[in-house]
Amino acid sequence: MINVTKTFFPPIEAYQAQLERVWKNQWLTNNGELYKELTSKLKAHLNVSHIICMTNGTLPIQIALNAFGNEGEIITTPFSYVATLSSIVWEKCTPVFVDIHPEYLTIDETKIEAAITEKTTAILATHVYGNPCDVETIKTIADKHNLKVIYDAAHSFGVVYKGKSMFAYGDASTTSFHATKLFHTGEGGALICQNEDVYKAMHYRHNFGHDGQTAYHGLGINAKMSELQAAMGLCVLPYMDHIISERQKVCEFYDKNLDFNRLTGFKIRENTSWNYAYYPILFNSEKALLKAKQNLESHQIFPRRYFYPSLEELPYVNSNHCPIAKDIAERVMCLPLYVGLEAEQLTKISTLINEA
Ligand SMILES: *Cc1c(COP(=O)(O)O)cnc(C)c1O
Repeated sequence: MINVTKTFFPPIEAYQAQLERVWKNQWLTNNGELYKELTSKLKAHLNVSHIICMTNGTLPIQIALNAFGNEGEIITTPFSYVATLSSIVWEKCTPVFVDIHPEYLTIDETKIEAAITEKTTAILATHVYGNPCDVETIKTIADKHNLKVIYDAAHSFGVVYKGKSMFAYGDASTTSFHATKLFHTGEGGALICQNEDVYKAMHYRHNFGHDGQTAYHGLGINAKMSELQAAMGLCVLPYMDHIISERQKVCEFYDKNLDFNRLTGFKIRENTSWNYAYYPILFNSEKALLKAKQNLESHQIFPRRYFYPSLEELPYVNSNHCPIAKDIAERVMCLPLYVGLEAEQLTKISTLINEA
C-alpha cells in the first residue's frame, strides 16, 4: 500500500537516548531541558528571533488570532487545511474569504483591499504547499489599513524566501509539527515571531496566562509542548537536509515522467528555495481526477484530494463566492511523496496517471 505520505522515523536508538535524559531528569513537561534545547536548535536552524513550540499546529493559529483578531473580520484564503478556517470561527472572529491566484494557489493579494471593512482586524493567509504568499504586497496593504498579518506556515518548514526563513514573515507565523509534516514531533507545532512584545503576548497565552505562580497576565490556554514531543523533534531535526533532498528526487521524477500535456502543476513564487512539501497536480476536470484516483486506488495507491472542498463551502460559514478556489479544489490531487519511495513505485504511479 502506498499512501500520500509516510511519517519519517529516526533510528529508535536515538529516541531511546533522548528518553534516557527525560527519565534522568524526571521531568515531562513545562519548559523542560529537551524543550529548551529543541527551541534553541530550531531558532538557529531557521534563523528566527523567537519560537514557541506548542502541542500542535492549530493552537498557535488560535493563540495568534486571540491576540490579534479581536473578534473582528479576518481576511483569509479558502484554499487551505480546515484548521485555518476553524481557528477563526473558534476565536469568535468572522472569516472573509478572498479568492486565490490561479497558478500560485495562494491568496490573491490584488483582491484583498476590496474585502477590507471597518471590522477587519487581521489577514490570515496560508503559504499553501510551502509556496510563499506575496508577503511584500500583503505587508503594504496591512500597514496601510493598520491590520495584523498572520501566516499559516504549516507547510513551510525549510522554505527560504529572499534569503530568509518563510517563518520570519508576518507579525506572527504558525507551523505544524504533525507526523505528516516535513519536520515533526508526532503531534506538535510552533508560533514564530520577530518582535519581543509579540513573543511575550503569545508566550503568556500558551501557558494559561501565567505570570509566575500566582499572577496572571491575562487569558490563556494550555498549548505547551511536552518533553516526549521535544525528544522526537531532537531526533528528526538532524535529518532535515536528507528529508528535503530525498523529497526533491521524488518531485523531479514526477516532473519528468508525468504527461503535462494533460495535467498542470502549480507555480512556485520567484526567489523561493522550496521544500518539496507536496506534489499537487491539476487535472482538466474533476471527472478526470476521479478516474485517475480510482485507477490508483485499484492498485493500492492512495493519493489525497488536498485541499477539497474549498473552505467557503463548509456548512458553518457564510460563503463568499470564490470561483477560482472552488474550481481548483475540484481538480487538484496530491501524489504520494515521502522519503523512501522507490523508482519502481514512482514509475507505477506515473504510468497509472498517464493512462487514466
Ligand atoms: C497541518 C495543518 C494545520 C494544523 O496542524 P496540526 O498540527 O495538525 O494541528 C494547520 N494548517 C495547515 C495549512 C495544515 O496543513
